[in-house]
Amino acid sequence: MVTEVIKAKELQKLDPVFGQLSFDNHEQIVFCNDKDTGLKAIIGIHNTVLGPSLGGTRMWQYNSEWDALNDVLRLSRGMTFKSAITGVNLGGGKAVIIGDAKTQKTPELMLRFGEFVHSLGGKYITAEDVGMTTSDMDLVRTVTPYVTGISEEKGGAGNPSPITAYGVFMGMKAAAKYKFGTDDLENKVVYVQGIGNVGEALVEHLSDEGAKVYISDINQERLEEVRDKYHATIYTGNNLYSEDMDIYAPCALGATVNDHTIGQLKAKVIAGAANNQLADEQKHGRLLREQGIVYAPDFLINAGGIINVYAELENYGKQEIMRKTENIFNTTLEILTNAETNDVTTHKAALDIAQSRINSRRKEN
Ligand code: NAD
Repeated sequence: MVTEVIKAKELQKLDPVFGQLSFDNHEQIVFCNDKDTGLKAIIGIHNTVLGPSLGGTRMWQYNSEWDALNDVLRLSRGMTFKSAITGVNLGGGKAVIIGDAKTQKTPELMLRFGEFVHSLGGKYITAEDVGMTTSDMDLVRTVTPYVTGISEEKGGAGNPSPITAYGVFMGMKAAAKYKFGTDDLENKVVYVQGIGNVGEALVEHLSDEGAKVYISDINQERLEEVRDKYHATIYTGNNLYSEDMDIYAPCALGATVNDHTIGQLKAKVIAGAANNQLADEQKHGRLLREQGIVYAPDFLINAGGIINVYAELENYGKQEIMRKTENIFNTTLEILTNAETNDVTTHKAALDIAQSRINSRRKEN
């Protein structure tokens, strides 16, 4: 508690927006407020060199507005690199709505949010993230065309989460091949942390392949549901990080690889869906490497969702979505090998490729 107070005070000493630690030359930050619906949202537009910024909207009960700002800054930057490495012509953006999605999300609030998105004239295109569903996006679509992740009945590509999970599964298999010499996950001990939309679909792939799957979540009901459906084991301990496992799959929120957890990790591979898994990209990326833990960069392997929503803008079908997502296996393997050859962290190897695509487009313009 004392440290939290100090942290908040330290944060307040920084300049409010441009001086934030996670500020990385973002192009535009939009604060959205509506008294009538109780909407408090922040839209972060990091970079639009490759195209309009696209990224999901997260609804979360943040501890403070500083946390919400920090999250949207980190998430929108991550989207820039995700789109760049995936080869889609999109920039990086993201939105956060401050509040509890279970109790505070109303149709009026979502519509008002949609109007704010619309006011940006297409510079930011939204989609679903934590706390959002396809039907929320269908609702937003009634007030703006700048939304993806629309249901198939309404002409969209549907819920992106199963495709994200498939891409994560491909990235995980590539990391396993690199580390264990085989991409077969049978009997591998895998801990999936967070069994929401993506986590559950990942558990399905893993159990189909015969992996020994452990699941953890803060939602007990979901744990029991997913356990019963896929014969997974519910993790009942209180420190997942220190458990013996082959693969750790973070599929809840970010920054779980941090100063506190990194020394305890016994996993040999980290491959999951959560965005921004490394609290500090450089420091924790380096420490993972020193510990011999293979880290499959999050923004590379969780790109299935962006491939799926991009289909709505570019009009390609399911077959092409699956082909592009399956290719995450090859790209991951290539990047893990590159990192070793060039003696850099896997995160940096992936980031460099993404950055060079942005740089060459910038030169063309
Ligand atoms: P979701 O909201 O459906 O699921 C998140 C799950 O994590 C929930 O079941 C929640 O109870 C659980 N959770 C929250 N805090 C936890 C904790 N401390 N420990 C264990 N479990 C916890 O979200 P999702 O769509 O499945 O996304 C999961 C992650 O993947 C997020 O970080 C998201 O940004 C990222 N991601 C999602 C997509 C997508 O297509 N949905 C695409 C790329 C990245």
